[in-house]
Amino acid sequence: MNEISKQAATLCVQGKDIPLTIERRTQAKHIRLKISRKSRQVVLVLPRRASLQAGMRFAQSKAEWILAQLALLPQKRVFQDGMPLSFLGRQSVIHHSAMAKRGVWFDQDVIWVSGQPEHLARRVQDFFKKEFYAYALKKAREVAEHAHVNVKKITVRDTVSRWGSCSKSGHLNLSWRLGLAPLFVADYVIAHEVAHLVEMNHSDAFWAVVADLCPEYKKAENWLKKNTAYLYSFVIK
Ligand SMILES: [Zn+2]
Repeated sequence: MNEISKQAATLCVQGKDIPLTIERRTQAKHIRLKISRKSRQVVLVLPRRASLQAGMRFAQSKAEWILAQLALLPQKRVFQDGMPLSFLGRQSVIHHSAMAKRGVWFDQDVIWVSGQPEHLARRVQDFFKKEFYAYALKKAREVAEHAHVNVKKITVRDTVSRWGSCSKSGHLNLSWRLGLAPLFVADYVIAHEVAHLVEMNHSDAFWAVVADLCPEYKKAENWLKKNTAYLYSFVIK
């Protein structure tokens, strides 16, 4: 078993305190560093026998690399008036309309948001979750029918470790952030999870089902790999 235990530390680089997450992994072979594109955290991986001091010395020796990697992360984004974005494949702009009393709604390519400006980001986020849920439920049921399986329930949340997951009983978990990806990418993750109701593994047979349900799956996987940091740059209110 690859057991992982986590601990927080701070690295001081050029007078700046950089938070580190230290992961002790029983199966790790070497001390290494990685940057989590989701949590924006610097992670120091230590094998079982490595000392914390050796790990910190290693991290210090890679200080320039760490700063360069952090600088490459996209800027954090908060949903705001005038912000352009693509949601469920629609290129749109967020517009604040203080006087309207309609909540949040789509009109052509505008996402209108009423109410106090300080609530705008949270309202947009709630709207996106709700819209993505409705879309994903419809899509999952269509795909499930094609695959002759049953989707019982869908939950949309801010998943961290995976874009989606699926239980044998037909319960799908999906990240609402997929709504901010192109539609073929969201469709792929939905098809991937539905395919698990046919094959509960990642065997060749499983990928054959995925290819049948979603011929563009490789392109979608590539998009997700390249754009994880973008999808996680949106700050939750
Ligand atoms: Zn899978």
